[in-house]
Amino acid sequence: MRLAEVIVNRPAKQLNKPFTYEVPDALGVVPVGTRVAIPLGRGKEEGIIVGYVPETVSLNFTVKPILSVLDKTPWFTSEMLATAKRLSHYYLCSYPDALRLFTIDKKELKSYERPKVAWLYPEPFLTVESIPARKKRQREAVAYLLSVGGASYDMLKEQGFSLPIIKQVSELSGVRREEKYRHTYTNYDAREIPDIPLTTAQAKAYAPIHDAIIHRRFSSFLLHGVTGSGKTQVYIKAAAACVAENRIAVILVPEIMLTDQMVTRFVEAFGDEVVVFHSKLTISERYNNWERLRRKDSHIIIGARSAVFAPTDDIGLIVVDEEHDGSYKQEDMVRYHARQIALWRAESNSCPVILGSATPSIDSYYKAKKGIYTLLELPERIHHQPLPTVLLVDMKEELLHGNYSVFSDAMTDLIQRTLEKKEQMIMLLNRRGYSTFVMCRECGEPVNCPHCDVSLVYHRANEALRCHYCEYHAPVPEVCPKCGSRKIKFFGSGTQRVEEELAKRFPRARIARLDQDVAAKKGRGEDVLHGFAAGEYDILLGTQMVAKGHDFEGVTAVGILTADSVLNIPLYTAAERTFDLLTQAAGRAGRGKSEGHVVIQTYNPLHYAIIKSKAHDYKGFYKEEIEAREALGYPPCGEMIHFRMQHEKKDKAMQIATAIVEELSKVFDNDVEVLGPYEEGVNRVRNLYRISVMIRGDTLSDVKKYIYHSWIFTQDGLAIDVDPM
Ligand code: ADP
Ligand code: ZN
Ligand code: ZN
Repeated sequence: MRLAEVIVNRPAKQLNKPFTYEVPDALGVVPVGTRVAIPLGRGKEEGIIVGYVPETVSLNFTVKPILSVLDKTPWFTSEMLATAKRLSHYYLCSYPDALRLFTIDKKELKSYERPKVAWLYPEPFLTVESIPARKKRQREAVAYLLSVGGASYDMLKEQGFSLPIIKQVSELSGVRREEKYRHTYTNYDAREIPDIPLTTAQAKAYAPIHDAIIHRRFSSFLLHGVTGSGKTQVYIKAAAACVAENRIAVILVPEIMLTDQMVTRFVEAFGDEVVVFHSKLTISERYNNWERLRRKDSHIIIGARSAVFAPTDDIGLIVVDEEHDGSYKQEDMVRYHARQIALWRAESNSCPVILGSATPSIDSYYKAKKGIYTLLELPERIHHQPLPTVLLVDMKEELLHGNYSVFSDAMTDLIQRTLEKKEQMIMLLNRRGYSTFVMCRECGEPVNCPHCDVSLVYHRANEALRCHYCEYHAPVPEVCPKCGSRKIKFFGSGTQRVEEELAKRFPRARIARLDQDVAAKKGRGEDVLHGFAAGEYDILLGTQMVAKGHDFEGVTAVGILTADSVLNIPLYTAAERTFDLLTQAAGRAGRGKSEGHVVIQTYNPLHYAIIKSKAHDYKGFYKEEIEAREALGYPPCGEMIHFRMQHEKKDKAMQIATAIVEELSKVFDNDVEVLGPYEEGVNRVRNLYRISVMIRGDTLSDVKKYIYHSWIFTQDGLAIDVDPM
């Protein structure tokens, strides 16, 4: 009897071990890594075969048989299984949860192989006349097929034929049906793209990358270059070398909407070699794309964070563009960092990783300095545009001058000048909505979410107060819910409020807004960006979304309304995030022909993150920041794990958090520092209280080993965040 070890594909910490099942002879050879249907309890589940029990082992319990096999070829390669295992130990998540990251989201106990597209082709003997005249629509469909020589279901639907009609046509003897994998870019004309010669600086950076690609050697490169220094061109060159090796290139980008330009450049260079992966794809589109990679119909995948789990065993290059970006860290379920997974996978696949950024993460730069990564630099912009000039405005002084507006005088000037010159401006504000909060002037109480410990935000569009932590929303109260006073007032300002202010002051300016509220509507965010790129707007106002990655030729001015909002968040990464945000935002100015101007408004004009970003001085910033981290033992000069216990009852959350503190303090006495239990700034979300514990040490690998096998690992309601950001 063949006995397989099967992991149940279900999110549960308690199922963190394989179950033994019999593989009936009728199923033939079923390799490790194959997904199968198994009986579990009274139901059926999807399982993944992760190993076989040696024949010599005899069991003292009865086993059930596997019901069916779901993959023709195993979904998991041995490398994927090994990476999942490594991930589960490093990030302290269960093995099933780690494996699930590699699968297509939903499972229906079906093979993923449904979604090929059906194409219909006319046989030579097919004629319109062979269809009875009364079947008018069928005749029209056949006439269309004959005229185009073959069409997919989608094309027929686009022509206005209903599904029943298409089905009837597909069943005609004169029609041949073929299943195909969809191309992502059906409209793409394969063009010969002129091979742009690299500049000297690019060639120097590219040489060691090329060497690693063709010799199939693991190496990690940190490519540090300001925006416009030609990093993307280096990625394209590297991807071409990888494709020539007949291996897969994985290109990770922060968020797909914002990186349309990256996709466009790759598609221009490689056409159908490219597949794109993002969260808005349907399951069949995902499957289709993965299948194209597996069959090597396409060799390049571009995607956000989760694309690092590409199910392929032959990766020849991984690029992590904007490697410092926060969106690479998943902040729920399994709290992994895509950069870390990229490094592991590259190591197992024997290929290079390129981490690219204008403002590398402190972590990566530290490793480059230590020689763990190879540092490659592109110090100059390709077209030698100068970096923009930056003006810092101290908002405390504005107040002293009696200017209480959200716009300082310098900001107003910049807007005015930009509009006069008919150039474009990007304006950054970190808060969406209309006002930050609504407060009663009589009793001083803000209007809070009933389920979370945060104040509600006023949204003008639907005249409602909304919670940004849960889905709660309510109409604006006419009287204070606490004291009944009518003196309810809006404080602070969000994107909607500023939009209104701008419109009032500059009535002729064409203003577009981009924040999560706009982006939530499908296609709307893209429309705004395209419209702005096409010059339909003068000012693009938005949250961080407008700061990243765009390359708008017409933008000469950037305004940052509050540099302090990120600086004030109580996290050890606050200065790093501020420096990134300001530098990236400023980098949007003056990418075309004209010089760029930036105005930064702040209440902390002396903070090093702000001063160094004004000077475009990454290295200077790094030096100050790493000193601060070293002094405090913060990453990368030490490791941290954050525990967040959530419970409806505050006492209960506190009790469990306290038990964690006591146990870890006892076991690891002098080796680690245990902080807490403590309440977070926002200590209740969706009616669950949050109590935190933080541990810190030079290295925490022993602590992780201990936790993996202790009650802490399986504690319900406990989120463990390794390397928190
Ligand atoms: P980054 O990714 O660092 O922002 P890009 O690769 O987008 O930089 O390059 C900036 C601009 O310079 C782009 O318009 C790009 O087409 C152009 N460019 C890049 N490399 C070269 C080159 N070797 N020769 C000419 N133009 C280049
Ligand atoms: Zn009141
Ligand atoms: Zn809420």
